[in-house]
Amino acid sequence: MRIILLGPPGSGKGTQGDLIEREYNFPRIAAGDLLRQAIKERTETGKKVEVIMNRGELVSDEIVIEMIKERILKKDCKRGYILDGFPRNISQAQKLEQIDRDRSEVVLDIQLRDRLLVERLASRRICSDCGTLYNLKIKMPAKDSLCDICSGYLVQREDDTSEAIKRRLRVYHEQTKALIGYYQKKNVYCEINGERGISEIFSDIREVLDNKMAAFHEARS
Ligand code: AMP
Repeated sequence: MRIILLGPPGSGKGTQGDLIEREYNFPRIAAGDLLRQAIKERTETGKKVEVIMNRGELVSDEIVIEMIKERILKKDCKRGYILDGFPRNISQAQKLEQIDRDRSEVVLDIQLRDRLLVERLASRRICSDCGTLYNLKIKMPAKDSLCDICSGYLVQREDDTSEAIKRRLRVYHEQTKALIGYYQKKNVYCEINGERGISEIFSDIREVLDNKMAAFHEARS
């Protein structure tokens, strides 16, 4: 099973992806996390993508596809995996199908209005050590500016500035949104209302996934 989390930046894909990972025991693979890790480690790829990412633009398909390919071909993805932030355009979706064909697929599209996304992204903070996400309005750390898990410093992501947020939303509307029609045609698309609390959203997601998995097992038996 391949679970694809679609939805604009700031829609809660990471939060819901973590919950799915815990509940169903599939690894969550976030393209953005892999790229941020490469930047942190100062790898060749990291150096190439840093400026582009900070501006809020998409990095080249070639780089992202290579990273995702390497990750999903690992042993722990055999049963299934969750993709967060990949694919982000149609050519990435097609490539994914070539790399890992014949895998049953479900696409969960968490939707929110742009106005709410801008507010969320602007108040988002990330732990500079472990990458845990916080929000100054809805998920505050217990100690000011310090991560609850590792006590690392909380910072604003370079691409959560107002200019970069605008660009990321534009990129989403221009490129990523086209995936809705693409996956609707494949009959694997499911829209989730993201303008609710975390547990309400997850309860909808669980219903979709439980049904999909039951149908999948029935078809195989
Ligand atoms: P995210 O953490 O998903 O918000 O991604 C942060 C940034 O990483 C994006 O704004 C892009 O610059 C880059 N990125 C993440 N995923 C992709 C992708 N599938 N294709 C191209 N660029 C990506």
